[in-house]
Amino acid sequence: MTDRSEADSARETRRWCFADQLGPHFLDRPDQLALLIESRAVFERRRFHRRKAHLVLSALRHRAAELGGQAVFLQTRTYREALAQVDGPLSVCQPTSWAADRFVRSLPSVEVLPARGFCTTGDQFERWAGGQRTLRLENFYRSARRRFDLLMDGDEPVTGRWNFDADNREPAPKNEPALGVPAPWRPDEDEIDEQVRADLDRWERDGEVAFVGSDGPREFAVTATEAQQSLEVFLRDRLPHFGPHEDAMLAGDRFMAHSLLSAPMNLGLLDPLQCAYAAEDAYRDGTAPLASVEGYIRQLIGWRDYIWHVYWHFGRNYRRRNALQAHAALPDWFAELDADAVEAHCLRDVLAQVRDHGWVHHIPRLMVLSNYALQRGWHPSAVTDWFHRCFVDGYDWVMVANVVGMSLHADGGLMATKPYAAGGAYINRMSDYCGGCRYRPGVRVGDDACPFTAGYWSFLSRNSEALQGNHRMKQPLAGLGRLKDLDEVLAQQRAMGNRPP
Ligand code: SF4
Repeated sequence: MTDRSEADSARETRRWCFADQLGPHFLDRPDQLALLIESRAVFERRRFHRRKAHLVLSALRHRAAELGGQAVFLQTRTYREALAQVDGPLSVCQPTSWAADRFVRSLPSVEVLPARGFCTTGDQFERWAGGQRTLRLENFYRSARRRFDLLMDGDEPVTGRWNFDADNREPAPKNEPALGVPAPWRPDEDEIDEQVRADLDRWERDGEVAFVGSDGPREFAVTATEAQQSLEVFLRDRLPHFGPHEDAMLAGDRFMAHSLLSAPMNLGLLDPLQCAYAAEDAYRDGTAPLASVEGYIRQLIGWRDYIWHVYWHFGRNYRRRNALQAHAALPDWFAELDADAVEAHCLRDVLAQVRDHGWVHHIPRLMVLSNYALQRGWHPSAVTDWFHRCFVDGYDWVMVANVVGMSLHADGGLMATKPYAAGGAYINRMSDYCGGCRYRPGVRVGDDACPFTAGYWSFLSRNSEALQGNHRMKQPLAGLGRLKDLDEVLAQQRAMGNRPP
């Protein structure tokens, strides 16, 4: 390096990349100087899933190794300790939580740039939201399709249809233990993974940190190269099958045809817009059907971006909303991921997957875990925190809107027009769980009563007043009014308390 370039480097603004900003698109140029900080205090404050801690630290350390001398990599207790060791100006892309955003904006030597890693910018979203009466996902999604010219023929969607949701709600295939789709990409661990594992073991032994869940071989990509490989395998082998069974669950097939790309994408390793264009290419090349490609693109430029922008749009107090006045604490068996204490087949299996892998796809999250929490009136903040800590792809921005808005209806309907409460009949239709369960989905009182069915009526009864004005709840509330054994259902639920079902 010449004297001149050393001087230039000294003056150059260094890009501080958080542990979820690890892809090349968080740097302005491939050779930009970078700062990476591994803060142990993050893990001391909350009990994260062991696999999540492993994934995040592995990704951060892999990025540090990749960047070599281009990055300053500091392993300290707190961010402030690390920042005290850094000279010169810093810039950072908008961090992904209100707390981190406030922190970086309080630092005088740090320039905060607009967010990266999403498709629609904050300004574009606010311009769109300004012209809407309610923030309907479908409208946002269509505006994004037009803006990014994705699956469009001029001003019209290809084939004239915007939405293939109706084709993508198939139940689980009957008498099939698995969907029969090629397996997803799997990583090989390396010495960085081993070192992370040894460090986490030591921290735990020393009593510095505590985790929930089990350790196991890494299952998700931690570098941009790995993430690209997993994307290519998904596009080639699994995208053609994605879609029809998107909302179904099979006890013997935890991946179904899902992409498993949310973890690397939320680490910032994949650019979602590039993924969407790659999926469109698969359709245009004739290697994947339109319903599958549209369903996947909807997840990327629609749902994922929508959740991100809702997080900021409704302000920092959105997370505290509790429209249904749900105040119950999470029972220990749930908080500790004690699946073995649970007899209800669906909940037992899903909780075991969370314990063992820190990941289940979106339907078990919504229709089993969150549904159970909604029915029991668990506090939205506690449920949000649980999802954030226990899922490898969970971050504050992901979980606040998903849990408060979507799953628990705690925002009173700003995001979803009705609560996602469902009884055992729904789980029975969309999965193969009920056949192997000691409970019966159609029974609401007695020893065989399905906890989801009984919990559904109990939820409606407890919230009937709050839901009265919601026209989409008219029919369920009318059903509640016709229930002859409601008192018995409620007495049974009270007697059960917080015990595992
Ligand atoms: Fe789940 Fe109820 Fe079906 Fe059992 S009967 S698997 S508890 S929905």
